[in-house]
Amino acid sequence: MRSPILGYLDTVIEETAHISAGDVAGYIPELAAADPDRVAIALCTVNGTVYSSGDVDHRFSIQSMSKPFAYALAIEDHGLGAVLDNVGVEPSGEAFNELSLDPETGKPRNPMINAGAIATHALLKSDEESSVERMLKLFSQLTGRQIDIEEAVAASELGAGDRNLGLAHLLRAAGALAQEPGPAVEGYIRQCAASVTVRDLALMAATLANAGVQPETGEQVLRRQTTRQVLSVMASCGMYDAAGDWLSTVGIPAKSGVAGGIIGVLPGQIGVVVFSPRLDPHGNSARGIEMMKRLSEDLGLHLMDTG
Ligand code: GLU
Repeated sequence: MRSPILGYLDTVIEETAHISAGDVAGYIPELAAADPDRVAIALCTVNGTVYSSGDVDHRFSIQSMSKPFAYALAIEDHGLGAVLDNVGVEPSGEAFNELSLDPETGKPRNPMINAGAIATHALLKSDEESSVERMLKLFSQLTGRQIDIEEAVAASELGAGDRNLGLAHLLRAAGALAQEPGPAVEGYIRQCAASVTVRDLALMAATLANAGVQPETGEQVLRRQTTRQVLSVMASCGMYDAAGDWLSTVGIPAKSGVAGGIIGVLPGQIGVVVFSPRLDPHGNSARGIEMMKRLSEDLGLHLMDTG
């Protein structure tokens, strides 16, 4: 018998079909060409059961949903203290690509905005494998399948990467970038171009929900303390300058990406993923936010809800 949960997910998709607000990301040509009407949802419990609906096999680039995982890898490499010496944990209240650093510390304010994510990527150890290969290996451990780069997206964003390059030069001048700007931005952009489905992302989110243990393979991919830190920063900074609105309405740690995905994590319980390419002015999926609000309300996911 088909699970009633699948019927419920179909309903969420149908009942948000009228939401056509927003635009696909225009500043990366390859993303500007995306079909704006694609839509998908996936849930994964900490037991590894996945429920999905919509365009579940559609692949799209992970974009900024890679940032929590790069942050996790940097913490695993260097320890939290050393990472905090380089990148802060305060919400910036600014747009994802703002050209700014904390004036008091000279560091990026957090690892979820581009400045912090470029600095974080530059911290990844790359003695035997490149930082990008290491990220792909991590994504593959988290999803249970080989994850590759969508080369057309990477090339397209590299060709339009002046703003991120500007950020990297600013970071380097402030002593906050461990690599030369060019390679740091190229590595970061390739990390963002990893090609995933909502099912892949649901498993990645569920691993964060499950204290770093991938629920299908049982592998401890990340340390428990690392996932706690990552989820804390997702809760405060994951939705850019809409983070406060998100935490009060949806109420779970989350991260969005400009290809239209959003991952949410209810610690100890479930990973939740939605996908719809049209973005609101903050760079978050407009229909995705409405689908997440519905899921949070109907399934009682809000962390601050005392019942
Ligand atoms: N690669 C994108 C950028 O750096 C990521 C932004 C996002 O997904 O929010 O502009």
